[in-house]
Amino acid sequence: MSEINENINEQHQSLKEELKKQKEKRKQNYKEFKQFAFKGNIIDLSIGVIIGAAFSKIVTSFSNDIIVPIISLLTSNINFANLFFTLDGNKYETIELAKQANVPIIYYGNFLTTVTDFLITAICIFVAIKLLQKFKFNKHTKEEEKQAITTKECIYCKTSIPIHASRCPNCTSILEQQSSRE
Ligand SMILES: [Zn+2]
Repeated sequence: MSEINENINEQHQSLKEELKKQKEKRKQNYKEFKQFAFKGNIIDLSIGVIIGAAFSKIVTSFSNDIIVPIISLLTSNINFANLFFTLDGNKYETIELAKQANVPIIYYGNFLTTVTDFLITAICIFVAIKLLQKFKFNKHTKEEEKQAITTKECIYCKTSIPIHASRCPNCTSILEQQSSRE
């Protein structure tokens, strides 16, 4: 009787441990997810995607409403959307007629519009990145300049410390003789 009891107890114990392990694993997974979702770049990424979608609309509008009319003016009023040819060898006056004839149509006008969109997007992104880099670089050098004025290097532990410090806050070495020694 006591043996059976012990056996049940053991089983109960191991089940408990198993559950505990699973719970800890879940906790760990949740923690990792939280780190991924909130501490990583995922928020930056989401903002990027949203702004990217809005930016894409601007580019499409810029292309369709400004660039394409200018191009069609330069190319004597050709509407890009009406540029096509059919694969059956016959000539059709409009896309509608070709569609009614149910023949394969190559919409190379639409393709050109898409390529134009892409080129405009690429140029815009290139310019934006260049500006951002310039801004970042300027900020960086300014910060470095500021730091160069307010800090010096401890001769003992080689860390950056306030320029007027007489004792290193990191290794506690006395620095008063530093300037006279040099
Ligand atoms: Zn030091």
